[in-house]
Amino acid sequence: MNIDSHSTDLIFAEEALVWGDPKNVRMFQENLLRQNLKRVAIQHPVYSKVIREDKIDISSISTFADLNRLFPITTKESFLSNPLDYVLTPDLENPKDYLIWDMTYTAGTSGEPAPVYQTTFDFKALLFAQTRMAGLRGMTSKDKIFNLYPLAPYPHGGWIRPSQAAAVIGASAVVGMSGSTSSVFPIIRRFEEVVDLVASSNPSVLWGVPSYVLKILRELERRNLKVPDLRLLNVSGEPCGPQLRKHLKESASSITENEVFISDSLGATELQFSLVECPSGNTFHNPVPEIAHVSAVDENGQEVEDGQTGKLQVTHLNRRGTVLIKYLLGDLADMDFNPCQSCGWTGGSIAKHLGREGKFLKVRGQMVNSKLITEWLETSELILDYKVTISNEATTGLDKISIEVATKEGSLSSEDQESLVKQLSDIAGLRVEVSETPFKSIWIPEDGMKPKRLRDLRVDN
Ligand SMILES: [Zn+2]
Repeated sequence: MNIDSHSTDLIFAEEALVWGDPKNVRMFQENLLRQNLKRVAIQHPVYSKVIREDKIDISSISTFADLNRLFPITTKESFLSNPLDYVLTPDLENPKDYLIWDMTYTAGTSGEPAPVYQTTFDFKALLFAQTRMAGLRGMTSKDKIFNLYPLAPYPHGGWIRPSQAAAVIGASAVVGMSGSTSSVFPIIRRFEEVVDLVASSNPSVLWGVPSYVLKILRELERRNLKVPDLRLLNVSGEPCGPQLRKHLKESASSITENEVFISDSLGATELQFSLVECPSGNTFHNPVPEIAHVSAVDENGQEVEDGQTGKLQVTHLNRRGTVLIKYLLGDLADMDFNPCQSCGWTGGSIAKHLGREGKFLKVRGQMVNSKLITEWLETSELILDYKVTISNEATTGLDKISIEVATKEGSLSSEDQESLVKQLSDIAGLRVEVSETPFKSIWIPEDGMKPKRLRDLRVDN
């Protein structure tokens, strides 16, 4: 067969996803789900075994409600411990659909990175997903995208996908090529060189981790370099709260006369695409409900009502490489499947992203909610960036929490420092140390793919 297996009836017409009927979207997805389960029952090493051993009658699963009732959840731990067994084996009808095109690794903030495989079929689906994502962001062939994701020590979507997005929408792309300098091959650009390249190439879009985008903008600002065409900042990889947004906008306004928009997104390696922020700024839209159903479930794995908080769950609907069903991403979120109030998108939206589960750490025998600390730091007017470290005190070996902050002014007065110590100690429930660090050294891409704002360096950790 020359055409990717029956591709024409597997894609929604774009109009049906704008001010669409959520029931129709769900019915369409459930049709894909049934086809997917047929493949999975035969071709998926892990799930075929689950179906056999648990005696699951897949012919009785026709809706997501059935699936949630009859199919077990997949935890991150089970996938990470055995990622190769989540890849489909080829069928005889469309063997070319199953050739491996690329793989990227989960970022490995918890444990070893695990590979997620894309076959030829999946790769084209992901290029299609990029056209939808670009559409939601308002990117066109007129754009010039500057990719500020570092070259990671292993294949990672951040560095790989923005260039492909440019390819499929017909835009231009320039890649910063920052990253780990540990290679014997001299291919990495230093920070100053990346900044020079941004200025000389004059992109309309900067795309990267928000704190790194800000670092670049500030350096351009400091050196009085202009990027006249800049109009959009695509950010993902870490939370981009109101303060960070404000700083990004302020810095951008000094290097271009355009009004610069910020487009945040929530991605996951297991998805291979991102849920893109609505231009209204309120929700994150699933651009390709044909590829994955993203939902929120309760403790028993049942989908919660719209607007209620649940665990974020992914079910792939139409992939040939790595396939995950009822997979918990490890985040908490509220979903909304109604058409977006602002733009009408009906692909399913994360109405509220509440971040990772399990943010409690035991420090000196006390349970400390690290999320409260990081959230406070993210919204503090004074603080530009931060790093929280839990370690053992050199002499006593007791646990201690030290917080490095970078301030906007670059100098922290002793009153401000005392006030930070007081407020942060109150939140932590024990005394914390606060010190000032230059903004540039809080996170550098050489440290790894994802900014680590919270590190636990204790010996017995
Ligand atoms: Zn919208």
